[in-house]
Amino acid sequence: MASTKSVIIVGGSFAAIAALKTLVATKEVKLDITLISPNDKAFFNVAVPRLLVENEVTIEKTVFPLDESLDKLTKGTLHKATHVKSSVKHVEFNGKVVTIADGSKLSYDNLILASGARSVSPIWKLDSVENVDFTLESIRQTSDRIQKARSIAIIGGGTTGVETAGELGHEFKGRKKIVLYTGSSGPLSIPLPGHVSSVTDKLKQLGVEIVNNQLVKKQGESTIVLEDGTTRDFDLILEAQKLIPNTEYLPNEVLDKRRYVITDDYFRLRDFHDVICLGDILALGQQSLVDLVYNQNPTFSKAIAYEVFGDTKVKLTPYVKPSRPTILVPIGRNGGVGVVYGFSIPNFVVWFSKSRDFMIPKASGYCT
Ligand SMILES: Cc1cc2nc3c(=O)[nH]c(=O)nc-3n(C[C@H](O)[C@H](O)[C@H](O)COP(=O)(O)OP(=O)(O)OC[C@H]3O[C@@H](n4cnc5c(N)ncnc54)[C@H](O)[C@@H]3O)c2cc1C
Repeated sequence: MASTKSVIIVGGSFAAIAALKTLVATKEVKLDITLISPNDKAFFNVAVPRLLVENEVTIEKTVFPLDESLDKLTKGTLHKATHVKSSVKHVEFNGKVVTIADGSKLSYDNLILASGARSVSPIWKLDSVENVDFTLESIRQTSDRIQKARSIAIIGGGTTGVETAGELGHEFKGRKKIVLYTGSSGPLSIPLPGHVSSVTDKLKQLGVEIVNNQLVKKQGESTIVLEDGTTRDFDLILEAQKLIPNTEYLPNEVLDKRRYVITDDYFRLRDFHDVICLGDILALGQQSLVDLVYNQNPTFSKAIAYEVFGDTKVKLTPYVKPSRPTILVPIGRNGGVGVVYGFSIPNFVVWFSKSRDFMIPKASGYCT
């Protein structure tokens, strides 16, 4: 008879679901899995730039009830999985106890940390305390404000800012003023050096004004303050500039300066190998779904085999950050820019893979 172990997963998004899929694959150890997250539905946030300009019907295609996924993934297996709708407030690694928002304590044999990172504006990612309804309502309200605004500023020239500028430009070219403050030398200058000029050209063709080399601040609801103190007013300002790791419940000793979790190369906490991390929370990782699926998962599944299933013969695989990026960035509905392992891909491939539908038809593969 298989022995039983209790595993807690902190998080209810891509990494938590990927972890669950890895865990339920074993037949050697019976698992009692508890997934703790404030959201009761997984959300395909990749599509947010499109959701801001699309209608209500589309948003419904991006959310997936967690309870249904847990039932589906454990059906016909040895394992049991339960969702607790709450936030983790504290972890005691020596005692192997997690404390949630109402003060209840839950013990574990193994702990998976998959609580990711949230965004400054609530529209881009799931929250660490609020349910998914809060995220969806924030998107709906922002979408309404976009329709009414005559001028919109976007702070942040990374993928989120560029994709959103592209969506707004495509939808409202000539009808609204759209300004992108990249905060660096150009849009997407960090991940895609070779593409800066084509990104700039594509955005300009969609009527987007680009302001580079200015670290701007948002003041009140409608003012942008430039580095020299001058100001510009907009009807709406979208903040797409930074992520905040959801690690407030963890001790400082396991966090780096940016407050992401420090692990060994196999995603285990250095002093507590029964605790394994996955997804945006990892200091080693790249805070992307592509990284999670293609680079992190192989390392994670070996660590799970070793630490959770007790397979000491398994060869742990170190995580290796890819030296060449893989990223697809739609800029409007007719294509965009992209590289796969550092090699540029043509506009029509970006259109076919992402820009035509923002991958919404594939969302369930990542969220269930
Ligand atoms: C607009 C946008 C578009 C993107 N598009 C792409 C793309 O096209 N390709 C790509 O590769 N990547 C993309 N990304 C990155 C991708 O969204 C992240 O890599 C992914 O969300 C990481 O998943 P995760 O599960 O690690 O963390 P998250 O998605 O951040 O989920 C964290 C989970 O943990 C929960 N949580 C947080 N704190 C606690 C707590 N204290 N207790 C319990 N639960 C908690 C949250 O509620 C949530 O369920 C995009 C990001 C953004 C913002």
